[in-house]
Amino acid sequence: MKIAVVGTGYVGLVTGTCFSETGNQVTCIDIDQKKVEMLTNGEITIYEPGLEKLFLRNLKEERLVFTTNLEEGIKDAQIVFLALPTPPGEDGSADLRYVLGVADNIGKLLTDYKVIVDKSTVPVGTAEKVHAAIAKNCKVEFDVVSNPEFLREGVAVDDFMKPDRVVIGTSSEKAKKYMSDLYAPFVRSGNPVIFMDERSAELTKYAANSFLATKISFMNEIAQLCERLDADVDMVRRGIGSDERIGKRFLFPGIGYGGSCFPKDVQALVKSSTEVSYDFQILNAVMDVNEKQKLHLLPKIRKFFKGDLKGKHFALWGLAFKPNTDDIREAPALYIIDALLAEGATVSAYDPEAMNNVKSVIGDKIQYAESQYDALTGANALIIATEWNEFRTPDFLKIVSNLKSKVIFDGRNLFEVEAIGELGFHYESIGRPAAV
Ligand code: NAD
Repeated sequence: MKIAVVGTGYVGLVTGTCFSETGNQVTCIDIDQKKVEMLTNGEITIYEPGLEKLFLRNLKEERLVFTTNLEEGIKDAQIVFLALPTPPGEDGSADLRYVLGVADNIGKLLTDYKVIVDKSTVPVGTAEKVHAAIAKNCKVEFDVVSNPEFLREGVAVDDFMKPDRVVIGTSSEKAKKYMSDLYAPFVRSGNPVIFMDERSAELTKYAANSFLATKISFMNEIAQLCERLDADVDMVRRGIGSDERIGKRFLFPGIGYGGSCFPKDVQALVKSSTEVSYDFQILNAVMDVNEKQKLHLLPKIRKFFKGDLKGKHFALWGLAFKPNTDDIREAPALYIIDALLAEGATVSAYDPEAMNNVKSVIGDKIQYAESQYDALTGANALIIATEWNEFRTPDFLKIVSNLKSKVIFDGRNLFEVEAIGELGFHYESIGRPAAV
């Protein structure tokens, strides 16, 4: 099939690449000229495990091409995906200006039947708005479909190639057929393609992300209780996770969720609820808990340094909002950095993939280390903010020889408390007893 993808960011590039991998002819369109030039020249613009190999293969086969020209990009396409940003507006609602702006332009360009697919995360009712924006200037038949994306950054290629499910919201039989054919190679192992109406599909995406965020905030509150009741959240987690109704996944406490999706999607669902006079109480609490959790290590750090962080130097492992991505949007590490700097401390950070992105946002406010061990040189303590695999079994002798004192504040519970205590570390983590 001939596919166009408008917006070539995390979702668009993965979508375009994976559709080309199954033999489709894909044109990715973006307004960012530099991005399009880089991609055309074979330079990948995001870090996503496994993506580069697929991207290069399909680029070479000329099944995957990039352009800044919307008209040229969609001309031959049978299906046009919108993978555009939907950032939070000032009031927390999803800002639809990119999606509706492009829809408006598409309306002026359509010359034959196409299926326009909304892959961006958008509030209920957006498919109707996209339809109206296109219809304003368009004389030919077209359909608008809601096909929310559930990929997770860090495992996006696997998620896209082998999705747990594909949700397709459409009331058009013709569009349904196009979408079924397109997704058939991705669900050969029997995972479901779930067809529904557009509004339910739009809500499904928000419900999924909000539920997952709720699980995280719930466990973070259990962790808070554990700290006050001398219980160990690791034990509680195992104890509840073995109940199939609860499940083992997404029960890990930490320093809060971040990223480009959970924070904005929970906020947008709360806003959508308010608009229909519904007070979504749980989600308000989920957001509150998360705000506090991002800085949960700070009181522990302050207490250890007797309230005075001025002149203290901290090593920080992890900047990305989660491992295996270079994405730093709403990353808890950035909140920790702000708080430490505000109290007169200095920071030397290391992240395997996200340092350039942080540098482009906060510049030289912190130091960027060559390696996780270089970051430790002369530091009064190590703070861990992202659970990259390479941080899980570090060389503790190197840590001891580089750090000024054996002190670790771990926001991701990477180490066994007892084992690290035996090595002589002062170690504080989330919801577990401290080793002192
Ligand atoms: P992104 O910011 O990484 O990418 C968006 C791209 O759109 C950018 O490259 C930008 O230059 C381009 N763009 C902006 N305006 C444009 C225009 N007028 N024409 C062409 N291109 C334009 O965003 P993302 O993370 O890929 O997210 C896209 C959507 O997918 C959002 O609604 C998001 O909520 C949703 N989503 C994201 C993820 C994720 O993990 N990132 C997962 C599922 C769903």
